[in-house]
Amino acid sequence: MIYLDYSANTPTDPTVLETFSQITANFPGNANSKHTAGKSAQTKQNEISQNISDMLGIKPDEIIYTSGATESNNLAIKGIARSERHTGRHIITTPLEHPSVSAPLTALQEIGYEIDMVKIGLDGKIDLEHFKSLLRKDTVLTTVCAVDSELGTVQPTSEIAGILADFPNCRLHIDATQAVGKIPVDFKIADTVSFASHKFYGLVGSGILYKKEDLIIEPIIHGGMSTNIFRSGTPTTALNASLETALKLALDNINERFDSVKKLNTLLRDKLSEYPKVVINSPKDAIPHILNLSVTGVKGVDFQKALSDKGVCVSVKSACSTDSLPSRAVFAVSRNRKNALSSWRISLSHLTTYDEINKFLEIFETCYKELTK
Ligand code: PLP
Repeated sequence: MIYLDYSANTPTDPTVLETFSQITANFPGNANSKHTAGKSAQTKQNEISQNISDMLGIKPDEIIYTSGATESNNLAIKGIARSERHTGRHIITTPLEHPSVSAPLTALQEIGYEIDMVKIGLDGKIDLEHFKSLLRKDTVLTTVCAVDSELGTVQPTSEIAGILADFPNCRLHIDATQAVGKIPVDFKIADTVSFASHKFYGLVGSGILYKKEDLIIEPIIHGGMSTNIFRSGTPTTALNASLETALKLALDNINERFDSVKKLNTLLRDKLSEYPKVVINSPKDAIPHILNLSVTGVKGVDFQKALSDKGVCVSVKSACSTDSLPSRAVFAVSRNRKNALSSWRISLSHLTTYDEINKFLEIFETCYKELTK
């Protein structure tokens, strides 16, 4: 098998698994319990939160542990919308968002919130002038990805935050799921930031929502105390420790990992661009981990299946989307529905080898010839 779908999920690093086993074995208590085992788990949990917050440049109390980025996005979006409902019900977003952002927005729209979509330029970036024109006094939330999951476009989040400085009623939520561990992320510019551990060799089922200290949001999961009052449930100490380990590994090696992925991406881009029917959809300055392309006249799902039949794993849109509809993100940069329907995504890792890339290119050639004849 040639796995080229690292933006959907990464294999868990053995060190992360070791952390999980050790913490599970050594801290059997519930960190909320007041006995010795509970206190010991609580002390460990505090240490983990301190270490994670140090790495992210935030405060331990600003961390909300969640089950992943879907929950983090839902909590930020619904939590802000509900707590700010008396100030306004207008929200701005982009066509590049993951379903875990667009679906809660649709749910809010159904109960009376107004959602505006900011235009995307052909370079894949938010049109900042259009963004400014959409902002209103009753805009309570702007939600934007730091890096989108289909094209890998890096959004100008600092500029967006700068524009919002004149709109004190509007909170900024950044979905940084495809950015954390790959490129530097400035958490402090936003009110809330989401990410998940399994995108950088941590465990599935573990994520974080950063929430600025003073911001009040309505919880979506109600219950007893957790590590943070905004999300109830027994503190997931072993998962949080595993996230800490994965994050440390990713951040300690961020430049080396980036450079090796960049080389692989350049090789792939060059080789694939030689095919007359290949359209590379990812902008040149997208993160190198994601390369989105279309083979003209062939549906993305058909190319994916042909590759999959030969042992190559790539994805059509993101893993959580409906494959039969054209990609909104690719449509935004190409303005071409057929091209959007033909698109699919290769996603790379520092673990990807040249041998895998060369074998992939051979298989690609076979599929290309079969499907375009
Ligand atoms: N946001 C983005 C940009 C993603 O790429 C993903 C997953 O692919 C998610 C959110 C959802 O993450 P999770 O699977 O951890 O819920």
